[in-house]
Amino acid sequence: MNDDNSRELYDRALSVMPGGVNSAVRAAIEPYPFFVQKGDGGHIIDADGNRYIDWVMGLGPLMLGHDLPQPVKSSIQQKASEGPMYGMPTEIEVDLAEFVVRHVPSVEKIRFVNSGTEATTSAVRLARGYTGRNKIVINQGGYHGAQESTLVEGDAENTAPSSAGVPQAFAEHTLPVPFNDEEAVRKVFEKHGDDIAAVMTEPILGNYGIVHPTDGYHDFLREITEDHGSLLIFDEVITGFRVGGLGCAQSEFGVTPDLTTFGKIIGGGFPVGAIGGKAEIIEQFAPSGPVFQAGTFSGHPVTMAAGLETLKFAAENDVYDHIDGLGDRLRSGLSDIVAEQAPEYTVAGTAGMFKVIFTRDGEAPQNAADVKNAETDRWRRVFWGQMKDQGIVLSQNQFECQFVSYNHTDEDVEETL
Ligand code: PLP
Repeated sequence: MNDDNSRELYDRALSVMPGGVNSAVRAAIEPYPFFVQKGDGGHIIDADGNRYIDWVMGLGPLMLGHDLPQPVKSSIQQKASEGPMYGMPTEIEVDLAEFVVRHVPSVEKIRFVNSGTEATTSAVRLARGYTGRNKIVINQGGYHGAQESTLVEGDAENTAPSSAGVPQAFAEHTLPVPFNDEEAVRKVFEKHGDDIAAVMTEPILGNYGIVHPTDGYHDFLREITEDHGSLLIFDEVITGFRVGGLGCAQSEFGVTPDLTTFGKIIGGGFPVGAIGGKAEIIEQFAPSGPVFQAGTFSGHPVTMAAGLETLKFAAENDVYDHIDGLGDRLRSGLSDIVAEQAPEYTVAGTAGMFKVIFTRDGEAPQNAADVKNAETDRWRRVFWGQMKDQGIVLSQNQFECQFVSYNHTDEDVEETL
């Protein structure tokens, strides 16, 4: 495999960028990272012309793959001549807002920002503004973005890669609990109930291994937050428009949060985040309310067009069926490999595109600690070997999750297995 250009680019990157590039990805692709020159459907081609099957898909936002369908491209191109107008909504922003409100029952109103991180940060500020309280309950091993106020781990044992080594002083107002641990949540409310502005959780824990809620866990969170006058925030940056088709994980669990954060797919591969929820809470944003919110690029017509046309394309085509079908085949094929090479593990997954997690002894992990305990060199080798030998790119937490896109094919699955 030729790698001259990649080596040279890596040297240049190391001299001007921190650690060169995304360290997690680099670690997976030693001794140097990919420099993607071109996307081609479900594949990428690197700086040396090597072709790889891409199961990363930009870490999830590229639901339609690297080749955007013509209607999406045309709409983006058309909007390229419209600049952002600070503080003014654009027509296409209204269109996208209407689309989301139509498809996600818990969202009565929505505000767009530029990333998932901004969305979760704004949701936390909104919850604090609305309740007049400070503390936020979060999950150990959860991830809500690379931001102080939402980088809320607090437990060195279970830190996500993003916060490892970062002093925890900023987490003063965050209360980490293990996912699925009702007793821990109850205790936290007993101690801090009157100070808790919100519980923020991913409905399916995503970044640190895909962990499903136990039966009734989200109902329990809904009840305890309501009883204490706190808000329930679902961070659906990963699950939004992925799990549950053109909706969210919350529809699968039948629980209505007060606020929902979006990112990834909602921008169709372009930088969009959003905070949606009950109208009276969203109205707390200035100027109708006291919570300042601004962003030079928020609602940028190009990003809104990419998001809207992507979601419309998904609504009008067999995107979810295609992805679910391929994802199921990939998952079952990986399960066979694992059964053969690492029989103490099995592969599990979830609906939609967000596939392939590991379980221990056939049981789904209950929280981040379970996931961590299940990481072993042996597990990693099963998948890393695959990738290196066969030119396949898996995701950052590659043994945990992959993203199947509309542009992936049966052949990609066959080649991977
Ligand atoms: N929330 C969740 C659940 C995420 O998975 C992520 C990113 O992976 C974020 C928030 C942060 O989003 P972004 O990377 O767009 O800032």
